[in-house]
Amino acid sequence: MHMPEQLVIRPPSEAKSLLIRVIRGCDWNRCLFCGIYDLFGCAHSLRTLDEVKADIQALKALHGDCFETAFLGDANPLALPADFLVGILTTLRAQFPRLNRVTAYGRASSVWKKTREELAAIHTAGLDRLHVGMESGSDAVLRLQKKGTSQNQLIEAGARVKDSGMELSYYLLLGLGGQALWQEHVAGSVQVINAVKPHFVRVRRLWTHPASRLGEKIAAGEFIPQTPEGTIIELRDILKDLDAQDTTFTCDHANNYIQVHGRLNDQKTAMLSVIERFLALPDDMRRNHYESMPSVI
Ligand code: SF4
Repeated sequence: MHMPEQLVIRPPSEAKSLLIRVIRGCDWNRCLFCGIYDLFGCAHSLRTLDEVKADIQALKALHGDCFETAFLGDANPLALPADFLVGILTTLRAQFPRLNRVTAYGRASSVWKKTREELAAIHTAGLDRLHVGMESGSDAVLRLQKKGTSQNQLIEAGARVKDSGMELSYYLLLGLGGQALWQEHVAGSVQVINAVKPHFVRVRRLWTHPASRLGEKIAAGEFIPQTPEGTIIELRDILKDLDAQDTTFTCDHANNYIQVHGRLNDQKTAMLSVIERFLALPDDMRRNHYESMPSVI
């Protein structure tokens, strides 16, 4: 029996989703802070449309039509031609008619290279939401981390996703500017989020594997990581300046020191209160909390 290929990672919000590998690894694979596909020994390569369709048939044979959501990986299915994605989505929707949400990872630069018509066709064929790694809105931080995008591109790509009718999740990485660029990181990220008003902002804390490209820079003293408390101050300062009505702001990953969740702008004050209450705790309690938190991808 044909066995479908597995994904390396998926967002936490896709924990119950049917997972479909439409491309292997990351076609960019240069972000200093990442290295996830290297750690798992997964090089980038393409799959044929027939291979992916065979996986979809096999998943149907294995599980039946029991999924309500599906997720396309690995890192950047949006690098694929629009007609390839339309072919996959059409097959997927035909085989799994109970799906009410299909999402994928996509790099901002790949979104930016698609025309408005292509993005609309992808959405019409069945892609409902894109998970995009914004990480930072600061050009200095994006350059430093070799993210391969810019503040302008994040704003333009984000607007195009929303115009196409798809939902947009932007991922924000606290601590990405280190101690040298944290204020630029805060200011630039606020600018992008306020300009785009994505449907979701999903917050993570920088976690650096010692063998990653950034880990080597830390070892060489070229990047000074943000302190635990510094990441919480970044979270507070970003949230404080956000004006993004109807954006869902969520720390939906286990590695955040503080988890706040809410809808902007209505629940901003409540989220800020959670952060301020934590920062008002005695020093030893805060320190114990930081030390008790796992460092996880
Ligand atoms: S963060 Fe995303 S785009 Fe950057 S190397 Fe990792 S998977 Fe690729």
